[in-house]
Amino acid sequence: MTQIQHHISDDILDAYRAGTLPHAFSVVVAAHLSICDACRAELEAYDLVGGALLAGAPQTEMQPDARARIMSQLDTTPAPAVPRGSGVFPAPVMTELKGQPPKWRMLGGGIRQQILSADQEGSLRLLYIPPGKAVPEHSHGGLELTLVLQGSFSDSEGEFARGDLETAYDDLDHQPIAGPGLPCICLAATDAPLRFHALVPRLLQPLFRI
Ligand SMILES: [Zn+2]
Repeated sequence: MTQIQHHISDDILDAYRAGTLPHAFSVVVAAHLSICDACRAELEAYDLVGGALLAGAPQTEMQPDARARIMSQLDTTPAPAVPRGSGVFPAPVMTELKGQPPKWRMLGGGIRQQILSADQEGSLRLLYIPPGKAVPEHSHGGLELTLVLQGSFSDSEGEFARGDLETAYDDLDHQPIAGPGLPCICLAATDAPLRFHALVPRLLQPLFRI
């Protein structure tokens, strides 16, 4: 397996830890963490520092019956069923897929998509791009995070393979092209509608719903 070259930026990892990332982005970060030992180690190191700070904080008195109440809650709260990873899809993606294989929708040119979630804060989708095919050239109205799950793509920022995460801000104008070999399967989160350049892709935009 090739080494992951493109990781989560510190500010996005901070926001993830603080729980302030919109849902779509937090799923992409969780998916990267599940396949990237380096970022997971960094997150755990942060948590250790946080825990050490908490350990130094003044103790607060615990209610005498607190332990019993916590234990009884543990007894009555059923553990939620967490889908496991399957094939190229890590557990956070399988959770979004509700444990089912993707239901691809054709976008033309062999490109397929499944929208996993979409709200005011952002949208999350899986993209399937055949080898050598390009995603329509676009710039961003905001932040886009793209995680490669299978195959690879390249654009003006470099080459991205399984596990690599591309962080694109609104100043990046790029045209990702899938590499040779396996079809490129990506998980992408965007926080604003993409702006496509050519007329035809603009007509396709309602289809993309991104
Ligand atoms: Zn990483």
